[in-house]
Amino acid sequence: MDEMATTSPWEDDDKPHEECGVVGIWGSADAAALTALGLHALQHRGQEAAGIVSMEDSGVFHAHKGRGLVGDNFGDAAVIAGLPGRAAVGHNRYATTGETALRNVQPLYADFEFGGFAVAHNGNLTNAHTLKRALVRRGCLFQSTTDSEVFVHLIAISLYSTVTDRLIDALKQVQGAYSLVALHNGALIGARDPLGVRPLVIGRLPAGGAHVLASETCALDIVGAEFVRDVEPGEIVVINDEGLTSLRPFAKQPSRFCIFEYIYFARPDSIVEGTPVYDTRKRIGAELARESAVPADVIVPVPDSGVPAAMGYAAEAKLPFELGIIRNHYVGRTFIEPTDQIRHLGVKLKHSANRAIIEGKRVVLVDDSIVRGTTSRKIVEMVRAAGATEVHMRISSPPTTHSCFYGIDTPERSKLLAAKHDVAEMARIIGADSLAFISLDGLYRALGRNGRDAASPAFCDACFTGDYAIPLADLQDNAQRPVSLLAAANS
Ligand code: AMP
Repeated sequence: MDEMATTSPWEDDDKPHEECGVVGIWGSADAAALTALGLHALQHRGQEAAGIVSMEDSGVFHAHKGRGLVGDNFGDAAVIAGLPGRAAVGHNRYATTGETALRNVQPLYADFEFGGFAVAHNGNLTNAHTLKRALVRRGCLFQSTTDSEVFVHLIAISLYSTVTDRLIDALKQVQGAYSLVALHNGALIGARDPLGVRPLVIGRLPAGGAHVLASETCALDIVGAEFVRDVEPGEIVVINDEGLTSLRPFAKQPSRFCIFEYIYFARPDSIVEGTPVYDTRKRIGAELARESAVPADVIVPVPDSGVPAAMGYAAEAKLPFELGIIRNHYVGRTFIEPTDQIRHLGVKLKHSANRAIIEGKRVVLVDDSIVRGTTSRKIVEMVRAAGATEVHMRISSPPTTHSCFYGIDTPERSKLLAAKHDVAEMARIIGADSLAFISLDGLYRALGRNGRDAASPAFCDACFTGDYAIPLADLQDNAQRPVSLLAAANS
C-alpha cells in the first residue's frame, strides 16, 4: 500500500500526538469479532488505521492491522476467523505524526521471556522522546515512531518478575495521558493515568460474563455489554478467568478528565464519567445562550458536532432550531486532504447551505470549536451566500488558545486562531456579524460545577487555559531528535 503523505486534519502539523480508541475483551469465543464491533463504534476516535491482536488459551497470539477504517480491515469473516481466541485487544488510530506507516499501527506486540504481550494506547506521552533516548542508549531497538512503544521497552527491561509489576514499573516512568489495554497469557489489563485524562470503561456481557474494556460506553452498547463502571484515574484492572482485580499503585490525586471529550470528541450517545455526553452538550448550548443570546430568527447547528449544543441554545433562547446546513457524510477524508487547494474546497464538499431555511433570516450558527478558523470562515460565507441577512457565530467551547499534548489532535499554537486574535478580530476574520464563545466558568457550570476552581480545576482544560497539569518534558528537552530517521515508508 502507498504511504499517504499525511493524514491529520491539520496536515502541515508534525507534532506527535494520537487520538485513539481502544477495546479489550476477555472470556468470549467471539473476542476478535466483538473487538471489531467495539472499534467500529469508536471509529470517530480514529480513522487512519485499525488493528486487533487476539490470544488463544495456549498463549499463541494472532494479529491483523491495516490502514483505513475498521470496516475496511475487519469486514471480512476470513480475517476474523484468523484471529482465534477468547481474548483480544484492538485499537483505532488517528495518526497525526505525518506518517501512518504500518509499523505504527497498534496494538503493538512483542515477545518477552514471559510470553507474548500486546498493548493499545489512547493518549500521548509527554516524556516519550526523553525516555526513548535513554532506552536507545542502553540498547533498545525501536521498531516504530509511536510514543507508545516506550511501554514495550520499559516492560522488557524491568527487573520485576510479574507482568503486572513490570507494567506498573513502566507506568511509573512515563508522563502524559494514557488509557491503555494490554494482553498477555494470564490477563487482560486496563490502565488509566493518575489524572484520568482519557476515558476507559469496564463492561460485562450478560451471557457468559466476558469482560469488556473500551474507551467509551458506545462500544459496550454495540456488543450488548452492560456498563459496570469507569476504570478510575490511576487504577489498573487485571482481568482473567478468576475475575477482575483492581490495583492502585499511584498516590490518589484530584482527577483532570479531558473537558474536550465532552465538547467534541466523545460520541454523543456515550456516558462519560457518569454523565451522558448528549445532555452535557445541550446544557453547554443553553449556558451559551444565557451568556450571549442575540436577536435572531433561527438557530442552525454546524453538523454534526454542533447539533446538541445548538438544540440546547435554541431551547434556552426560545428560537426555532433548523438544519440550515446539511452535511454530506460520504466525503472521504483522504479525498479532501491531499492539497491545500482541495482542502479549501473540502469544507464545501462536506457542508452545504439549506437555502430554504436560511434565506432572509437572521441566523445563529452553533459549532463546538474554532481551531484554525477554516471551517467557520467557509460556513459563514456559505450561509451569507444562501441569503442570510445576519450571521452570528456561537461556539460551545472557550477560545482554543493552546495546543493539546495529551492526546487530542490540535495544530501547533501559532496556527490556532484564538492564540493570535481577540474575539472581535476573530469575528472579522471569519466574516460573522458577531462571535461569542462560552466562558470557562459557563462551561464548568454546564458540567455541574460552580465555575472553574483555579486552585483545583476539575478537568484538564489546557487547550483553553494553557494550564498543563502534566509536565511537558519533551517540549523542554532541547536535545530532541526526530523520533525516527527512517522516512515514512511502506513498512
Ligand atoms: P477549524 O476549521 O480549523 O477552525 O476547525 C474547527 C472545526 O474542526 C470544528 O467544526 C470542530 O468540530 C472540528 N474539530 C475540533 N477539534 C478537532 C479535532 N481535534 N480533530 C478534528 N476536528 C476537530
